[in-house]
Amino acid sequence: MVSIAQNLQQVRRRLADACAAAHRPADSVMLLAVSKTCPAEAVREAHATGQAAFGENYVQEALAKIEALIDLRPQLQWHLIGPLQSNKTRVVAEQFDWVHSVDRLKIAERLSEQRPAGLPPLQVCLQVNISGEASKSGVTLDELPALARAVAALPRLALRGLMAIPEPVDGLAAQRAPHRRLREAFEALRAEGLALDTLSMGMSADLEAAVLEGATLVRIGTAIFGARPRPAA
Ligand SMILES: *Cc1c(COP(=O)(O)O)cnc(C)c1O
Repeated sequence: MVSIAQNLQQVRRRLADACAAAHRPADSVMLLAVSKTCPAEAVREAHATGQAAFGENYVQEALAKIEALIDLRPQLQWHLIGPLQSNKTRVVAEQFDWVHSVDRLKIAERLSEQRPAGLPPLQVCLQVNISGEASKSGVTLDELPALARAVAALPRLALRGLMAIPEPVDGLAAQRAPHRRLREAFEALRAEGLALDTLSMGMSADLEAAVLEGATLVRIGTAIFGARPRPAA
């Protein structure tokens, strides 16, 4: 049986190869291990190989894991990458280090108000709907600049960049196109003066395309933890 440690080693090698192919430094892309649906012990195993940053989609599931791994808390970084409802913002502001899925000002305002004073600002990315009709989550490219300016002004958030989940497609060229659109939106915001440094894009199937288009953070689940059970609902 292939272990999480072996998978991680292979993903790190893929990432290094992708960086080399893109003529980028090997340390220019951060690896976020997406541990949704995996038990806390799988996170512990990944952490034992040096992995520190973990991504979760479901708030309740994440809270249980954060609690189960409380002994490792200072060494772990928890990133929320799934949809966030306004009735869950308080626990998220209290428990997470990053949120990648902010797509409405109301959610951002609540996170800023609810971020505890003793913690550093919550690190956020705005989720952009890059594939148009295909996804209901994410701000549109038209609405992105106004949202970015408003979120950047919130005191207890640090706006770091943009995140997208493109529609799955086959082939490097087709995979690059949506990632390129996200990078162009990112560059336009930076040209306006927003201090963004994070392009959260690329998953198990398209990390090479994302790195070629400038990803600074890839979110990898299946290639590290194996295939997930299909959700019941
Ligand atoms: C599940 C998920 C991932 C990881 O996807 P894999 O294909 O398993 O690598 C990345 N980002 C988001 C937002 C996800 O929901």
